[in-house]
Amino acid sequence: MELPEKIKAVEELFVRLDDHIRSFQQHTSLHCKAGCGKCCFKADIEATVLEFLPFAFYLHTQGKADEWYERLRQTDSSICLILNPAQAGAGLCSEYPHRGLICRLFGYSARTTKYGQRELVTCQIIKTEQTPSYQQAASEIEAGTLAVPVMNEYYMQLHAIDFELARDFYPINTAIKKALETVLQYMAYR
Ligand code: SF4
Repeated sequence: MELPEKIKAVEELFVRLDDHIRSFQQHTSLHCKAGCGKCCFKADIEATVLEFLPFAFYLHTQGKADEWYERLRQTDSSICLILNPAQAGAGLCSEYPHRGLICRLFGYSARTTKYGQRELVTCQIIKTEQTPSYQQAASEIEAGTLAVPVMNEYYMQLHAIDFELARDFYPINTAIKKALETVLQYMAYR
């Protein structure tokens, strides 16, 4: 598969996931606090290169790839550079339509425990401010009666697009930088 096809496949995966999350939210009524974004300030968020290829390609089409590459090369911050704490509105992600897989999954997905059970992965704010909805969703997931996006299943779908680019997890800014390198190299040699 050529790089543009891989990017298209990742974007299609995001559309399927967003639909899945939307129906999960409708069923559970779980939702993010308006204007929040606290989870994005975690310093240890990791991502794969593949999930940021759509963002990197978008930057290339906007003529912003080199500028962003320099910013990412020079930063020593472990907090995602896409985050804009000064942004007003619904959230703090300055590139929300192009966010990665982990950014979409967190809050509204389940992981599979070593005992094979599904467990909702969400934040403390949702757990404490929407406790009845959270507990209801958590017990339905545990009972297997609620369709929830499952993290490892979505990462398997990413692997199926490109195993190499989806295999390793990096600190989020490194993953974005590597995605830009991949796009810039492809554009330079095509
Ligand atoms: S998942 Fe939680 S911490 Fe993250 S934006 Fe939503 S409410 Fe805020």
